[in-house]
Amino acid sequence: MRKKIIAGNWKMNKNHNEAVELINSLKSGIDTDKSDVVVCVPYVDLLSVKEAIKDTNISLGAQNMHFEDAGAYTGEISAPMLKEIGVKYVVLGHSERRAYFGETDETVNKKVIKALQSDLIPILCVGESLEERELNITMEVVRIQVKKALANVSKEDAKKVVIAYEPIWAIGTGKVATKEQAEEVCKEIRTVIEECYGKEVADVLRIQYGGSVTGDSANELFNMPNIDGGLVGGASLKDDFIKVVNY
Ligand code: PEP
Repeated sequence: MRKKIIAGNWKMNKNHNEAVELINSLKSGIDTDKSDVVVCVPYVDLLSVKEAIKDTNISLGAQNMHFEDAGAYTGEISAPMLKEIGVKYVVLGHSERRAYFGETDETVNKKVIKALQSDLIPILCVGESLEERELNITMEVVRIQVKKALANVSKEDAKKVVIAYEPIWAIGTGKVATKEQAEEVCKEIRTVIEECYGKEVADVLRIQYGGSVTGDSANELFNMPNIDGGLVGGASLKDDFIKVVNY
């Protein structure tokens, strides 16, 4: 039985004072028994959020990292830096990073490998555009993204990865996928994992849905057999996150 995992992706929101304020308004309402709960916050908020969640079972996450440990990469943050301050999860390959910052399946793969080597759990994002959905190539697109991102990842490491299926047309648009649409792709992702790593890995690897999830839509989505929780943007910045987590 896979434990659900619900992660908030704050994106580029909340300075470090606002971050503590938000955690303080959320933390007593959040049930961490049923699901693993993660907050993926801006880098500059990591330390203050770490302090704010220290008496809870909420885990700390980052939203990106570089694939090298250190060096001349101005503006970047490495996996050992994140690990050192208590980060447990890292979002990799988010569609906003692919669209605006030139991330490719190849760089995402390097980051996934580095995260796993550094004892960080990748939340690997995949998903099709509206055009790809309308062309009926969603499954091919997602299959390729998953396979390329996990190239050279061992069976043991693959078990630790969390995959977030995030249709691009549903992110930040208020247009949530139906539970059937989300389940269909999450199931396909599990099939790809089974083809690559076998049933043992496919049975334990957790697959989230992300894209305009709210407290009202979480319940039906997270109760689908192949959806093991969610990656939540907008709703993670307000009290609605409690309703999402306690779906
Ligand atoms: C996201 O940022 O990963 C996301 C799913 O955002 P939203 O919930 O706002 O669509």
